Amino acid sequence: MSTPTNPFEIARETLKQLAVRRTPPTPDNYLTLYHEIAGTRPGSKKPEAAEFPDKQLRSLAAALPKSSPDQLRLARLLDEAVKNSSWDDYRKYLADFVSGLVDSQRLTWGDLIADVLRQAEAKHPGLTTARKRESLDHVLNNSASNPEILFKRLQNLLRAWGNGKTVDTTTPEDESAAGDDDTAAHDLSSTPPASVDEGGALLPELRELFAFTLEATVATQLVDSPALATDARQLADEVRRAQAPEALSGFLERLKRFAYKLDLLTEDQAELRRSLLELLRLLVENVHELVVDDVWLNGQIDIVRDIIDKPLSQRTIDDAERRLKEVLFKQSQLKSSLRDARDAIKHLLAGFIDQLALFSDATSDYHGKIGECAEKITAANDLSELESVITEVMKETRNIQLSTEHARDELRSTQQKVQESEARIQQLEKELEATSNLVRHDQLTGVLNRRGLEDMFNKEMARSQRHDTVLCVALLDIDNFKKLNDAHGHDVGDQALIHLAQVCRETLRPQDTVARYGGEEFIILLPETPLDDAAAVLTRLQRELTKRFFLGGNEKILITFSAGVTQMTEDDTQATVIKRSDEAMYNAKQTGKNRVVKSPAT
Ligand code: GH3
Ligand code: MG
Ligand code: MG
Repeated sequence: MSTPTNPFEIARETLKQLAVRRTPPTPDNYLTLYHEIAGTRPGSKKPEAAEFPDKQLRSLAAALPKSSPDQLRLARLLDEAVKNSSWDDYRKYLADFVSGLVDSQRLTWGDLIADVLRQAEAKHPGLTTARKRESLDHVLNNSASNPEILFKRLQNLLRAWGNGKTVDTTTPEDESAAGDDDTAAHDLSSTPPASVDEGGALLPELRELFAFTLEATVATQLVDSPALATDARQLADEVRRAQAPEALSGFLERLKRFAYKLDLLTEDQAELRRSLLELLRLLVENVHELVVDDVWLNGQIDIVRDIIDKPLSQRTIDDAERRLKEVLFKQSQLKSSLRDARDAIKHLLAGFIDQLALFSDATSDYHGKIGECAEKITAANDLSELESVITEVMKETRNIQLSTEHARDELRSTQQKVQESEARIQQLEKELEATSNLVRHDQLTGVLNRRGLEDMFNKEMARSQRHDTVLCVALLDIDNFKKLNDAHGHDVGDQALIHLAQVCRETLRPQDTVARYGGEEFIILLPETPLDDAAAVLTRLQRELTKRFFLGGNEKILITFSAGVTQMTEDDTQATVIKRSDEAMYNAKQTGKNRVVKSPAT
């Protein structure tokens, strides 16, 4: 066996010999045997292992800089070498590192600095010299301690300037400078954002906030795209778990891809909305062509067209849908009664033609027969011959009489059928009137009727409770309307109501609701409007009415109204709030008319 040289081997051999020689394993015996095997003299020299200067080597390693990934790696390797008491390893690692440093000295600094100077002077679209100087300062201030990183960042900066940016976003920074060491992700960006802790990871609170936003805000908005909603939830899970910097960088990559998909989806949805609107417009145009004769329907269609020309909101879509439903309903009613009327007329016409044919057949036949008889009479030589001719004439006359009676009966029955179908049409009209309370708009003025008001009231009450906003309700009643009717006639009265409704619609905001509550009484719902503002709105409406006077025939007629306005409270129902505004309106009438009276909630 060759003589062991390595302290481990000497120690192992010493233990083995202690056992082989059956020597008691005391420290002294061990020491003596150790020196014997190592070929050293006891007392003159300590065993080699004891001489390893780990303390000094550790302090040397501690004194080395540890700011770059390579330096950190070196510190770890040196530490391992000390732990293994391996002077060889220690020397090798240190020597490698120093020769690496020499390599880094070979970085073409001269070229790079020349480039930086040249590019700083050059013109880059979208970048001012000041911006470039600022970004250069930023890189210099944040990477000066490590030449490799500084070199890499300066190269990236030049590339970014070339793309018209101040930061290069195309490649992860310092990828190659950081090498394959696991500390690479520590240096994801030159200045970590405030949300990134010193280890390069997101603070737990921020990670939770991020995850919550993805789950509760982003995913819930994506009900129509379940795959993307699932992605958002998975990203939320991922960011919760992303404690290590590597996990965080993976997450950021997937988040970027998710944002890109989201962007595409938004574009798709905008396109879809545009196409749907176009389709709706086309539909409205075509319905318009079909109903040229019906003034009411035309009015409704114009309103729908108006609505879809404005910026879309949930409210305008609701409104358009309601109006269209009414148009379709009315159209279907008209169609069925028209079909009945047309059938009745067709039937009538067929009857007349039959009768006409029968009658003309019978009469031409009769004329022929009578002509023959006349000839026979002329040619008759005796009474008996004449008698037979007369009998024939009598027979033919009788026939024609029968046929006339038949024709008359037929005519009577046709007449009866006409009356029956007239009655049927009347009946249909009545039914139409009876079902017209399904319609939610007042047919004279086009504003909501009572039924429409009830629906809208429910919606607005719910909305105001949901969003905790105020809702005001106003009731207005035209002043001295009876006089207007008496002086100018009922038709002019009707036109005045249409005028008032028109001014209301044009003066109020789109989200306000106007409804005809009774003869010359209207209710206005004013969402998100405090009481004082609501009263001001009504006063503005009064002013508008005096400005835009109403023409009855050729005469300018001034319409005024009295109004009561109140604010809805939690305890209110539709009935109580209308009652309160009615009382305030009555108060306005009592105190001189053409006024607005506020009723504070009780
Ligand atoms: P006040 O200022 O106190 O309100 O007086 P007024 O005349 O307006 O009120 P009153 O209630 O005495 O009369 C209301 C009139 O409104 C009576 C009715 O003939 C008329 N009216 C109700 N509905 C209609 C309608 O649809 N068309 C027309 N032309 N008149 C209507
Ligand atoms: Mg009244
Ligand atoms: Mg009145």
